[in-house]
Formats: sequence, C-alpha cells, structure tokens
Amino acid sequence: MSWCFCKIEKDKYVFENDLAFAIWDINPVSKGHILCIPKRHVETYFDASRAEVNACLDLIDKAKVLIEEKYKPSGYNIYVNIGETAGQVVFHLHFHLIPRY
Ligand code: 5GP
Repeated sequence: MSWCFCKIEKDKYVFENDLAFAIWDINPVSKGHILCIPKRHVETYFDASRAEVNACLDLIDKAKVLIEEKYKPSGYNIYVNIGETAGQVVFHLHFHLIPRY
C-alpha cells in the first residue's frame, strides 16, 4: 500500500467523530482547505459504507463553521477525486472542502 491518511497522527485532527476525522490540507488550494477522511482504510468513495460517508459529511459541516469564523470565505467547493485518471493521488477516501474568496 502506498502512503495514505492512516499515517496521520491524531494530534493533527481538527475534528473527529466515531468513523471519520478532519485535517488541514498540507498543500491547500486556498486558505482553510480541509480534508474529511474515514478512519477505516477505504481507497475510494465507492468502497465506503453509507455511515462512513455520513460521518465525513458531518465533519464537513463542522469544518464549515470553523472556516466561516476564521476566514469568512465567499463560497466553497466540496469534491472527491475517484481514481488516478480523476486526479486521486492519495488512495484513502477524502472529501475536499475548499473555501473560495
Ligand atoms: P487527491 O488528489 O488524492 O484528491 O488529494 C490529496 C490531497 O491530500 C492533496 O490536496 C494533498 O495536498 C493532500 N495531502 C497529501 N499528503 C498529505 C499529508 O501528509 N498531510 C495532509 N494534511 N494533507 C496531505
């Protein structure tokens, strides 16, 4: 298995719940770029359970509140890259939450 988010230390978690955690992206597309990631190692969106997807969406909502307070963006992108041809680089499901200014 290549590098994946299983290796992230817990002290890097911005938020977590039973099934997922959120971290700041190390190479942000914009200020406040967050990744929401299931704790279980699942490669893509289609490998995750509905509960894991919902746990990630719950953290997107929490992260949005934090980003609003810190950065006051004027819009957002939420997306998931699935597969190398779609731009996935890290093969552990992650939702991007990208504030826009
Ligand atoms: P992908 O292209 O797979 O959808 O996105 C991978 C994302 O993971 C990129 O935005 C990249 O900056 C981020 N990333 C890669 N390695 C690390 C890391 O070690 N820590 C954090 N916080 N983000 C990472």
